[in-house]
Amino acid sequence: MKFWDFHTHQGQSSESIFNWDLSGEIPEGSFSVGLHPWFLDQNWEESIKLVEKLAKQNQGVLAIGECGFDRIKGPKIGIQKKAFQAQASLASQLEIPLILHCVKGHDLLVEYLKNEKNPPPIIWHGWNLKPELANQLLLFPVYFSFGKHLLIENSNASQWLKDCPQNKIFLETDDSNLPIAQIYQAASLILGLSEQDLSDLVQKNWNSISSRKIK
Ligand SMILES: [Zn+2]
Repeated sequence: MKFWDFHTHQGQSSESIFNWDLSGEIPEGSFSVGLHPWFLDQNWEESIKLVEKLAKQNQGVLAIGECGFDRIKGPKIGIQKKAFQAQASLASQLEIPLILHCVKGHDLLVEYLKNEKNPPPIIWHGWNLKPELANQLLLFPVYFSFGKHLLIENSNASQWLKDCPQNKIFLETDDSNLPIAQIYQAASLILGLSEQDLSDLVQKNWNSISSRKIK
């Protein structure tokens, strides 16, 4: 059985989307690449050109990101918006998902989605906000990736996983050391789905929103 890990910082496996931060060598397997809002600097426009070139040439780039909005850490919101917009339009052009980092920026995402005619599929990673906020996003091509918060009973993540449309679910380890199998186990209990069915579900979810398929 395959346990795809849709967002991880912990090295690569054949079934993971490793979040590459543009340092060191280009990864060999599947990965995501983008500019994290924390690290946007004066050269971000140059760096985006590198991201664009790589994402176009290398089919191992399964997603753009993580990128997004952060009101706690990072440069001015104006810069964050521009960098997000550029990366979202790249993802849209390539027909691959964008992996979203969003801290206290729910309104910024909604503003973008209301104004954008052709948004890419956006996977909000590490979802752990109130179900009401998730509900507001259902009109849009927004998906939810769940991780370590599923191990906490009645966390926002655990509550939303129960009600979330099943075609919008993904699973991840992010920066934790947890085995991805543990996240699948927790999700399978919450959803009342076998691990095999869950594995099939998330794989199907990915392949229905991306031009770069997984097996
Ligand atoms: Zn991450």
